[in-house]
Amino acid sequence: MPERRNYYEILGVGRDASPDEIKKAYRRLARQYHPDANPGDPTAEEKFKQINEAYAVLSDPEKRARYDAYGEVGGAADLGSPFAGIQDLFDMFFGTGRPRGPRPREPKRGADLRLDLDITLEEAFSGVEKELEVPRVERCPICDGTGARPGSPPATCSRCRGTGQVETVSDSLLGRFVSIRTCPTCGGEGTVVTDPCPDCGGLGRVRRVRHIRVKVPAGADSGLRLRLAEEGEPGTRGGPPGDLYVDIHVRPHRFFRRDGDDLHCEVTVSFIQAALGTLLEIPTLDGSARVKVPEGTQPGAVVRLRGAGMPRLRGGGRGDLHVHLDVRTPTGLSPREKELLRELAAIRGEGVKEKDKGLWGRVKEAWNS
Ligand SMILES: [Zn+2]
Ligand SMILES: [Zn+2]
Repeated sequence: MPERRNYYEILGVGRDASPDEIKKAYRRLARQYHPDANPGDPTAEEKFKQINEAYAVLSDPEKRARYDAYGEVGGAADLGSPFAGIQDLFDMFFGTGRPRGPRPREPKRGADLRLDLDITLEEAFSGVEKELEVPRVERCPICDGTGARPGSPPATCSRCRGTGQVETVSDSLLGRFVSIRTCPTCGGEGTVVTDPCPDCGGLGRVRRVRHIRVKVPAGADSGLRLRLAEEGEPGTRGGPPGDLYVDIHVRPHRFFRRDGDDLHCEVTVSFIQAALGTLLEIPTLDGSARVKVPEGTQPGAVVRLRGAGMPRLRGGGRGDLHVHLDVRTPTGLSPREKELLRELAAIRGEGVKEKDKGLWGRVKEAWNS
C-alpha cells in the first residue's frame, strides 16, 4: 500500500483553493521539478510524479470531491496514469490547441436505445402497460463481461503494464515531446484475454431480445418520449448502462380526431332534427355522451362537451369534445313525405318548383290549381 499523500500539501495550496489557484500552483511546481530541468535527480522525478498525481485529482471536480470526502479516490486504478496532467504541461510549454490525448481507461456509459410504440386512441385515453421486445447488447453473463473463459481471468497487458496507454518520447528542435496513445496491444483495456469465453467469443457482450414492460400514461400523445433509465446497452469498464427511449405514436381513430387534449367528431342529423332540435346519444372513449342539438341548428354547427375529451398528461382534468353537426337532406322520400313537405313549403310561403314538366305540363298545372 502506498502511503496516503496529502495532495493539497504537495501542491502547496489550501483546502479551499480555487481551480485557478490549483492550476497556477501546479504549473509553477511542474516547471520547477520537470525532469528536463533536473537531469539525473531522482528526487525531482519523484516529486514531479507526485505533483502530477495530486493535480490529476484536484483538477477534476468529481475526484476532488471524493478525495475531500474520503481522503482517497477509490483506489489507484482511478487515478489513471501518473502523467494525467501531461496535457497541461503541453499547454504550458507549447500553448493550447493540441487535441486531448486518449483517455481509454475511463468508465464509459452504454449507448442509448430508441424504439417506436404504436398505441390506439383508447389506450392513450386510459393509459396502458405494454410489453416491448428490445433487441440489445448485454454484458455476457457467462464471463461477466470480461471476455475471458470463467476461471481464466484476463492477464495484465505486458506492453502497457495495465495502464491502457503507451508513451513515445521523441526529441525535436522544440524540445522533447512525449505523446500518449492508446495501447495497440490491448486496445486501451489494460488487460488481454488469453483464453476467450466460449459464449461470447471473447467480446464480453452478447445480443439478447429482452421483454421490457413500459407504462404509457393516460393522455399520452404522438411525440411523447418515455425514458426507461438504464435499460439501454451496458457501459464499459464499470460505466452505467445507457437509457431506453420509447417514442409514442397514437394511431388515427375511425370516429374521433384528436387535437391536443381536445377531441372532435362528426355526427349526422337530418334537417328535420336540426330544425326541431333533438337529443342524441353518441359513443365516447369511456362510454357514451348525450348531445343536445338545439332547435334551428345550422349545417357545420359545433356542440362542445366540456371535459369529455382526452385526459391531460400534465395538470389533470380533461379536454373537451367538439361534436360537429352535419345536417343532411333526406333522399328517397315517399309520396306521403313529399306531400307533407309541400304543405310545409306552402305554409312558409316557399315556392317549390319540383321539376321542369315542359310547357304543356305547366299549363295543365295552372288549370288544376
Ligand atoms: Zn462471455
Ligand atoms: Zn496494453
